[in-house]
Amino acid sequence: MDRVRTRYAPSPTGYLHIGGARTALFSFLYAKKHGGDFILRIEDTDTERNVEGAGEEQMDGLRWLGIEWDESVDIGGPYAPYRCMERLDIYQTYLNQLLAEGKAYYSYATKEEIEKEREEQLARGEAPKYSGWDRDLTAEERAKYEKEGRVPTVRLKVPSGKQLVFQDLVRGEVSFESDGIGDFVIAREDGRPTYNFAVVVDDYLMKISHIFRGEEHISNTPKQLLVYQAFGWKTPIFGHIPLILNPEGKKMSKRDGSIVQFISQYRELGFLPEAIVNFLSLLGWSPEGEEEIFSLEELCNLFGIERVSKSPAIFDTAKLKWMNNHYIKRADTERILDLALPYLEKAGRVTGDLQEGDRAWLKRLIGLYQEQLDQISDIVQLTDLFFREEMTYSEEAKQVLSEDHIPVVLAALLEKLQGKEEIQVAELQPLFKQIQKETGYKGKQLFMPIRAAVTGEVHGPDLKESISLLGVQKVLQRLQTLVDKREEVVGK
Ligand code: GLU
Repeated sequence: MDRVRTRYAPSPTGYLHIGGARTALFSFLYAKKHGGDFILRIEDTDTERNVEGAGEEQMDGLRWLGIEWDESVDIGGPYAPYRCMERLDIYQTYLNQLLAEGKAYYSYATKEEIEKEREEQLARGEAPKYSGWDRDLTAEERAKYEKEGRVPTVRLKVPSGKQLVFQDLVRGEVSFESDGIGDFVIAREDGRPTYNFAVVVDDYLMKISHIFRGEEHISNTPKQLLVYQAFGWKTPIFGHIPLILNPEGKKMSKRDGSIVQFISQYRELGFLPEAIVNFLSLLGWSPEGEEEIFSLEELCNLFGIERVSKSPAIFDTAKLKWMNNHYIKRADTERILDLALPYLEKAGRVTGDLQEGDRAWLKRLIGLYQEQLDQISDIVQLTDLFFREEMTYSEEAKQVLSEDHIPVVLAALLEKLQGKEEIQVAELQPLFKQIQKETGYKGKQLFMPIRAAVTGEVHGPDLKESISLLGVQKVLQRLQTLVDKREEVVGK
């Protein structure tokens, strides 16, 4: 068997989105599973639509996900160049071959003529396709058109009455009739190849054995088969992977606002790359058994194209968040702190140069919320109560604080903390016991008012750790405010 070689071949017309990342991931996994190579090629011949820097952005995103290639524009490889616009002379050679063999021809039809033909076909109720009226022009006819200033494209002569069949690794046997396909353009007026031509030349020359790509490309495949046949080349094996539908089960457009679509946006929101990879792997593929948590390394062993489904995958945002939370929970707190710092800095909570003590304090703070984080950017909002100068109280907190026994509890805590510089978590348990003894309040009656008073909320992280982290000064200040202005606060 030939060496397994797969590729991801993005057009730099946009940034790395979930569909592209999933295609890259499946291609990468398949290659690694079979001890093969994964190639990254930049298909930039559609120059009008190229977006500056998009190729590099896609590569950055893949690197962040841990999807590493064996050959590409940055590291080279035996089949370089890997950027299509640097391969124009190669395409020209192959175009010349087809022209010389009479399998392709210069087509002089103008845009207006093509459009007119299309409209007439539609008016007759026919499926539009290029008629190929200029397939066999004489030298005089060609000269006449040239003189008129027409610049030809190159079209492939599509044979009639042929069945174009391939065994798709996901979809099984797929077949198209060549009669449904008109002679199509393989090189533009300026000589640049179109996608359906360049992709075949590149995949062939780069010895690509398996082509995995989104199902939206399936209608391109018969055209590519025709190009392979025109050259007499062996076709690679295709696998068209299912569409990703939005959470409502609808086809997604680039502008679909129902989900975050770009990998860089997930990175900005504080998703971990291992969570994204794990989540993407399950968009269309399923493992045997119930387990759903897999590292990239495990996926390299487990992945099999035979378990990629034909039916579309639904993007489930709640599941992605659950998965991210799963990885955040298990991650080293130092790592989460490093990832959280930019958000805290941006929110003005910390400054760039942290002192040793600050870092230790922040690490404890992160540890307090690590279990709860769905995305690291949530840290700003979650930790708000530790940074607030002016207290605000939730309605539930106000309710708790309006109870009659509150002043007694708060005054007792205030008295116990006064004069202290700081308070350790371990000191708090005996301190609470003491207050309980003195006031006679315990359990909810004791802890709820304290929590409401120092955090402004009735739910939240561990109370003792929160008090210790807030520090005596802040806690005293908050207690004092309530002692002084409780009625104002609770609105009584
Ligand atoms: N350049 C194409 C795209 O970005 C690649 C299609 C293919 O994999 O053949 O969609």
